[in-house]
Amino acid sequence: MKIHEYQSKELFKKYNVPIPEGGIAFTADEATAVAEKLGSFPVVVKAQIHAGGRGKGGGVKLANSAEEAKRLADEIIGMNLVTHQTGPEGRLVKKVLVEQGLNIEKELYLSIIPDRATAKVVIMASEAGGMDIEEVAAKTPEKIIRIHINPLLGIQGYHCREAGFGLNLSPPAMKLFQPMLRNLYNLFMNCDCSLLEINPLVITKEETVIALDAKINFDDNAMFRHKDILEYRDLDEEDPLEIEASKYNLNYINLDGNVGNMVNGAGLAMATMDIIKRSGAEPANFLDVGGGASAEMVENGFKIILSDENVKGILINIFGGILRCDVLAQGVVEAAKKTGINVPVVVRMEGTNVDEGQKILSESGLKLISAVDLKDAAQKVAEIVN
Ligand code: GDP
Ligand code: MN
Repeated sequence: MKIHEYQSKELFKKYNVPIPEGGIAFTADEATAVAEKLGSFPVVVKAQIHAGGRGKGGGVKLANSAEEAKRLADEIIGMNLVTHQTGPEGRLVKKVLVEQGLNIEKELYLSIIPDRATAKVVIMASEAGGMDIEEVAAKTPEKIIRIHINPLLGIQGYHCREAGFGLNLSPPAMKLFQPMLRNLYNLFMNCDCSLLEINPLVITKEETVIALDAKINFDDNAMFRHKDILEYRDLDEEDPLEIEASKYNLNYINLDGNVGNMVNGAGLAMATMDIIKRSGAEPANFLDVGGGASAEMVENGFKIILSDENVKGILINIFGGILRCDVLAQGVVEAAKKTGINVPVVVRMEGTNVDEGQKILSESGLKLISAVDLKDAAQKVAEIVN
């Protein structure tokens, strides 16, 4: 789960991580009020969307008066912000964070992520922070330092010092940075984060250290134990079909192609997407209905695929195990009756009760195309959409 910068900063505040003064605004008038309350200028008006690269896309602007803050907020709220992370379609901005402008001396990069390869938590830091960090990573990766922490032992003083020295901090900054890093690590662990990133972490002319940006992602599988963080979920930022799917506990991800597909099991779904691509077509989604799906779940999954306007053909690939082929067939027939199938559907079924399943499908009166195996199914659906 992703949250907004202003929400991440609320968490920072709880963990005593320094952030600029500021407030969230949903309208230009609210933005003016925040700017007036801050009292000194410049203030920064920042678009709040679940994507980075806002600065380069025109979503972060400095204002030298409350009137200017109002004008900028008016401009940014309602704009379709396109950044390298939103894709060409961009994102509609619904709110802005108005913050005290800082006297920036230096922009650093700092992040914490789990490292699968070493099964440790890794702190990444760079002196060359700011809006071009991707370029730094690509061209001068040696400028990024990595510090591995054994999660069972936790963060130690020497980790903090190593990070601080790696960032070339001055003694006063070093003093502020060490407890800050500890607090960030604790936040990362306590809240089951999958990413915590500050870019830039700013050293001010006054030699203070402040998180100027804040990005946190959470492990969805742990959200059941963080009801307070779940409150931060912003459905405006999520794909409507994915929200619908999450209501039914379906593992669905919307993609760019036009072949809808429904599969039982995540691994089989990945393999199915691969074979769709190999056959020269593009998957419109990832959908794992799960090993133990009911007819109702199949029905809901099918409905979600059908409501995606980009879908020009559907491939159902089921290996009947716990989810029996007859249960699947029933679900498909029910969904088709209720929603009506408006695109060709290729079915490949194998496994438990396959004969009963085939019988239900063939007696349903639906126009389904059956396939002998997965390769055949993928080729048939690719032919249809192409
Ligand atoms: P992002 O582009 O989405 O990562 O948004 P950031 O919050 O990182 O802001 C982008 C850039 O705007 C930063 O790297 C800064 O250079 C600039 N910026 C943001 N806030 C301030 C501020 O208070 N003062 C100044 N001078 N620049 C700022
Ligand atoms: Mn940033």
